[in-house]
Amino acid sequence: MGAITGTFKGFGVTFSHMFRKVVTTDYPFKPPVSAPRYHGRHILNRHPDGLEKCIGCELCAWACPADAIYVEGGDNTDEQRFSPGERYASTYQINYARCIFCGLCIEACPTRSLTMSNEYELARDNRQDLIFTKEQLLAPLLEGMEQPPHPMRLGDSEKDYYVGALDNPGTSAGAETSPMGPGRYQVEEHPGVTFPGAEQAAQRAAAGKGEGA
Ligand code: SF4
Ligand code: SF4
Repeated sequence: MGAITGTFKGFGVTFSHMFRKVVTTDYPFKPPVSAPRYHGRHILNRHPDGLEKCIGCELCAWACPADAIYVEGGDNTDEQRFSPGERYASTYQINYARCIFCGLCIEACPTRSLTMSNEYELARDNRQDLIFTKEQLLAPLLEGMEQPPHPMRLGDSEKDYYVGALDNPGTSAGAETSPMGPGRYQVEEHPGVTFPGAEQAAQRAAAGKGEGA
């Protein structure tokens, strides 16, 4: 008797779900939009003139509990400048076979270079392709940005460069656009986003200011 009751209880669960709204998504043709603070693929952000925010300090690698990050630092020179500080990351890799998307690395980053995007399509058919290189992780160049190496273009001194709030708000705008799939991951609410300060940076570059700074 108990078995019969249990059977009907079990079918009751099945029947109750038959009349609920179907939640199947039309993936991959209409990929679902993730929550704004979803932890997805990492981004290495840039300053408004295009220089890299990463200074190659390795704090993210030390903070990572999964040993997923590998960084090698290099020295900037006046002729070869990739970031506004003394050092930059000559090699930067994240191994997505190890990463658990905990976000500790972005908490550890002192320059807000490292943030996370909403991109979740990270499956690959071999382990090697799960190791993302610096070129894959760097934010795309937006309007007014210039491909490094180049001199600092946001001020004639480091103080101007960092403290000039209007020119350098320290955001990661543009990081929403994945270099892996242009346009696909662009945040719908901000189509064609331009980096604050990019216009000023372009004007300074056009006027030749900031050279050799
Ligand atoms: S999100 Fe967590 S596991 Fe992934 S690289 Fe950052 S610290 Fe490591
Ligand atoms: S991403 Fe941030 S914490 Fe990691 S090496 Fe670059 S500056 Fe340092």
